[in-house]
Amino acid sequence: MAPIKKRILTGIRPTGPLHLGHYVGALENWVRLQEEYDCFFLIADYQALGDHLDEIERIRTSVLEVTLDWLSVGLDSEKSVFEVQSYVPEHAELHMLLSMVLPLSWLQRNPTLKAEMADLESEHKTLTLGFFNYPASQVADILLPRAHLVPVGEDQLPHIEMTREVARRFNRMFREVFPEPEGLVGRVPRLVGIDGQAKMSKSLNNCIYLGDDPASVTEKVRRMYTDPARIHATDPGHVEGNPVFMYHDAFNPDKDEVAELKERYQAGRVGDVEVKRRLAAKLNAFLDPVRERRAHYAAHMEDVKGILREGSRRAREVAQQTMADVRDAMHLKYTE
Ligand code: AMP
Repeated sequence: MAPIKKRILTGIRPTGPLHLGHYVGALENWVRLQEEYDCFFLIADYQALGDHLDEIERIRTSVLEVTLDWLSVGLDSEKSVFEVQSYVPEHAELHMLLSMVLPLSWLQRNPTLKAEMADLESEHKTLTLGFFNYPASQVADILLPRAHLVPVGEDQLPHIEMTREVARRFNRMFREVFPEPEGLVGRVPRLVGIDGQAKMSKSLNNCIYLGDDPASVTEKVRRMYTDPARIHATDPGHVEGNPVFMYHDAFNPDKDEVAELKERYQAGRVGDVEVKRRLAAKLNAFLDPVRERRAHYAAHMEDVKGILREGSRRAREVAQQTMADVRDAMHLKYTE
């Protein structure tokens, strides 16, 4: 008998189309891992409501956009489960129960949550209980299918640590129901934005999207931030911390070309225009097959919706088994 595959749960909030940061920080890993693991890919629409309650229409369209992005980078709904959080109500149920297990102080000391709350405050946005509680909803999302491995961005690692602590606490208080999952960070933990800001992010408006057409990609690369100290192409330039070279490192498969460009740049023998032209060509070569697959699926939206319905149905079967175990472990049974 084939050994049972270990399980992965990972997800994305449907707040907009996916970009190159999502690819190198997450999706690329997922595509590889789906061969070895039993993968659950979650579209976390409830979680997105925590700070996007006034943008439900965008969440609605993004659920399908994200699914198209997933399919177009090569995630395979035959091998893996694509699920929508709100279609599997057990996510909310386990979130509620684990909120009883999770001490408030663990949320209060969570560094990622603290930083995000400070961002909300500086933007004068209301901090809702739902947002404060989102790391607990991630804990429930991961524990519901009893995942062993969670590929995430580095900013999410405190939430994985908290998931392990909650699993341990639950197992000790009741009985062994949950494995303690491990986090796995992608090849490029944090891709900078085209404007040089620390993170490519929709809210910072500094993204190249997986669905961008070739002309937009070329134009965004043309506008990219480079070495601010360099005025003329003959000035020696810096490649360290230079977004254009970070993108070459991340997306140009021709390592000899990258090494040669870096050498010439540092010696003042190549201009930014050429370095960017070559980057745009490589990015477009990478994105061409992604665009082709996207166009194919976009012409078959009923099938795409069917993938979400079927994936959520499969996820729900697994979720109901876990919830039966949880209720049993907690003795929440009164009439049997
Ligand atoms: P989000 O869009 O915040 O739900 O992110 C989904 C996943 O993609 C998370 O694991 C993020 O950490 C990862 N991710 C998002 N933006 C970037 C980026 N600029 N660089 C690397 N990973 C990213």
